[in-house]
Amino acid sequence: MSADSLMIVGGQWGDEGKGKVVDLLSAAFAAVVRYNGGHNAGHTVRYADRRFALHLVPSGIIHEGVRCYLASGMVVEPTALVSEMDRLSSEGVSVEGRIALSPRATLILPTHRALDGAREGARGSAKIGTTGRGIGPAYQDKAQRRGLRAYLLADPIRLREHALPLMEEHNRELKTLFGAEPVDLEAAMQEITTAAARLAPLLDEVGPALRRHRAAGEPVLFEGAQGVLLDLAWGTYPYVTSSSCLPGFAAASCGVGPRLLGPVLGVMKAYATRVGGGPFPSELDDATGEQLRERGAEFGTTTGRPRRCGWFDAVAARYAVEVAGIDAVAVTKLDVLDGFETLKVATSYRLPDGSTLDTFPADPEVAAVIEPVLEELPGWSSPTESVVREEELPLEAEDYLRFLEAKIGVPVVIVSTGPRREETMVRGDSDLAQQLRGVIEG
Ligand code: GDP
Repeated sequence: MSADSLMIVGGQWGDEGKGKVVDLLSAAFAAVVRYNGGHNAGHTVRYADRRFALHLVPSGIIHEGVRCYLASGMVVEPTALVSEMDRLSSEGVSVEGRIALSPRATLILPTHRALDGAREGARGSAKIGTTGRGIGPAYQDKAQRRGLRAYLLADPIRLREHALPLMEEHNRELKTLFGAEPVDLEAAMQEITTAAARLAPLLDEVGPALRRHRAAGEPVLFEGAQGVLLDLAWGTYPYVTSSSCLPGFAAASCGVGPRLLGPVLGVMKAYATRVGGGPFPSELDDATGEQLRERGAEFGTTTGRPRRCGWFDAVAARYAVEVAGIDAVAVTKLDVLDGFETLKVATSYRLPDGSTLDTFPADPEVAAVIEPVLEELPGWSSPTESVVREEELPLEAEDYLRFLEAKIGVPVVIVSTGPRREETMVRGDSDLAQQLRGVIEG
């Protein structure tokens, strides 16, 4: 195992606060890599009292000297990447020569966006809750082996030759299957070609670059988007994202061996949230859920949608630890639980026939009817907000973290007690905790 590289994945349904954790750690890495998804991801990173919303560009961009990679397993909308780079530049972040895009990444076209909206609209009450940005249709085209890959950005003539017929097909689908307005293809081509000219210089194979970093002894940070419970295979299918969120996919996406990846840090909130449809056993559809949403500002970065909120689900968390091989956990937003008299944690599920289940079921119809078995723990009376030393945490908060560790089977090595980067502590003396302490404290 390459001890100085690190893999960060979301351990729940996304939005766990990975942005803050990645940003906190990324200054110590030579390279930060995004390997899945597209601009459906949304990280909010705060730096020196400024907020940056990132969707495609790895969070490492905020730190001078970190090189950022978008690997082949991503789907990239050219205009979205250009606008994000422009916005970062206008905010004083240097992006020039610091971003590499895999020539094998799949392109999202304007017609993918239109198809996403039309398909989701046609699902009626069975909506998945997609962000409508064309991610699913682009991955679908990739699997159908008719997708466009990023290398075409360097050749406007071939780009047009490939993009036009595919978009014509999409337009036929829009019209005949959904009765939707077709996309204006000349305007769409104009949009793509303009962005292509800006992106062509970014094209570079990611695997060889990462091997060069490692050969030079430079550590690499892998930044997973979404979360394990949204993984295409291991999440709550079909209410999942259309890519794999697991660490193993990083190797496949970058074209490197799994040994290059390093230990896996799972990021989990001290409670649970999910956006869109699908099973969520510990969901609170009451005033307590509302309190979590308000206190935690649980509204999507990308869509602004209110997130569904509930108690920490230790069954789902342990399942995530197992399927993703999470070595240790960063617990975020502990401060959001300040002021609750009692807290609950789901420790198993009960089926309608009275039997219990201690793992996440494969069948969404089963997942929809299970009831969480909740264990109650005392809340804490003094706040954890902004606490940065483990010994200053209220006793009950420390007990809560120990309870989570016992239930999920791996140590909690990072605790976040506020959105700012300083509001963080490294816990314990495990090898990983020591490595992270070194990284954070420089
Ligand atoms: P990501 O996609 O996993 O990075 O998650 P989001 O960016 O959607 O959500 C994280 C949000 O929570 C951001 O607004 C952060 O500034 C904020 N945040 C992160 N950690 C903490 C924390 O420990 N406490 C509080 N109160 N907010 C936090």
